[in-house]
Parts: sequence; structure tokens; C-alpha cells
Amino acid sequence: MVDVSCARCGNTREGAGKTGLPGALGEEIEQRVCAECWKEWLATQIRVINHYSLRPALREDREKLYAYTREFLNLST
Ligand SMILES: [Zn+2]
Repeated sequence: MVDVSCARCGNTREGAGKTGLPGALGEEIEQRVCAECWKEWLATQIRVINHYSLRPALREDREKLYAYTREFLNLST
């Protein structure tokens, strides 16, 4: 695993690695988010999906979820 300087917590530590997210967002997380913060987001996103009644199968809802992902991880939009 490669160490990253994390955009969310500011620590330099093990990166999130491959997240399965597509395109630029997936790459940005791989390069700028640590494994700990990624794990936190995976737990949090379940609550986000429930709270906003998102249906990740729908493109429109996926886009919203990606926006929340960026916000949580302190990535640029
Ligand atoms: Zn972090």
C-alpha cells in the first residue's frame, strides 16, 4: 500500500487504494484519502443513503452520492 497525504484528516498514512468508484473520483480518493477515512465514509454513506432515500442504481442518485462523498472526504468539487 502507498502512503497518502489525506485530504480529510491531514495525516500521511496508508491510502484507501482501489475503491471501485469510477473515473476521476476513484482516482482522487486513491491518491488523496487514507484507508481510515475511507472506512469511515463507507460506514457513513449507509446513513446518507437512508437519510436521503437515495437509490444508487439510478444515475441521478449516484451523482448525488458522489457529491456527498467529495464533501465528506474534503475533496474539491
Ligand atoms: Zn484520512
